[in-house]
Amino acid sequence: MAEKLTPEKIEEAARHYENITSGKTPILDKEKGLLKEQQPILDSQAKPIKDMHEQLTKHLKKKDPNSYPLIPPTDPRLLMKIAPFTDDMLKEFEIKDREELSKKMYNSMVKYGGIGLSANQVGLPFRMFVMGGHPQIEEGKVRNCFNPIIKDLSEETINMKEGCLSFPFLFLMINRPKWVNVQYTDEKGETVEEYLHGMSARIFQHENEHMNGYVFTDLVSKMKLERGKKAQAKLIKQTIRAQQQRLRNDVKAKTLKV
Ligand SMILES: [Zn+2]
Repeated sequence: MAEKLTPEKIEEAARHYENITSGKTPILDKEKGLLKEQQPILDSQAKPIKDMHEQLTKHLKKKDPNSYPLIPPTDPRLLMKIAPFTDDMLKEFEIKDREELSKKMYNSMVKYGGIGLSANQVGLPFRMFVMGGHPQIEEGKVRNCFNPIIKDLSEETINMKEGCLSFPFLFLMINRPKWVNVQYTDEKGETVEEYLHGMSARIFQHENEHMNGYVFTDLVSKMKLERGKKAQAKLIKQTIRAQQQRLRNDVKAKTLKV
């Protein structure tokens, strides 16, 4: 049933639009609407970025029973709102239980060097993400969050550089609420409600956006995104050049040994 359009709703939509265009975080628990069309991520750079992404993640595509490969940032599975998670969904993917999924998700996150990973980043349609595991964030605490909700957030915000495993080498300044009050069920199916601060609050918000099909490039202005992409292309070129140099050195070393 369509919701009645009240003055509050109009105001909320306007705020949402303002947040997206200003680079602030959008209202988090709302469905993504037409606003996304204001800033399509599939621009002229999508193809080269996709190629670079594939090149960088090629080695991760090798079959590894303990982790999942990342899907490209242009994959529609990453850009759709995910339905609520129920345990019987796991069967279809031959996953025994929440713990098995959580473990494999954690392994994948560690393998790619991230501090948060959503199931839809690896092509799984589960409203679930894993976060943490970094020794300097809450002593390495890991959270497996199923059906996450943000119940409350601080008015005070903080601007910080942020990355995303689906967009290698892309870093964007994102303004986010400082703390959040969250709720989710864990790998045992138990409900957890807690306040998160600092990096944990930021990661939870970032991953929670993935649940609704948002990616962090949606949260910044077109100009900011273009600037970020230029820096990303530079970083990727540098990395590839360094890799090639290492390869050449390896060949040289081997030749000298013969
Ligand atoms: Zn991400």
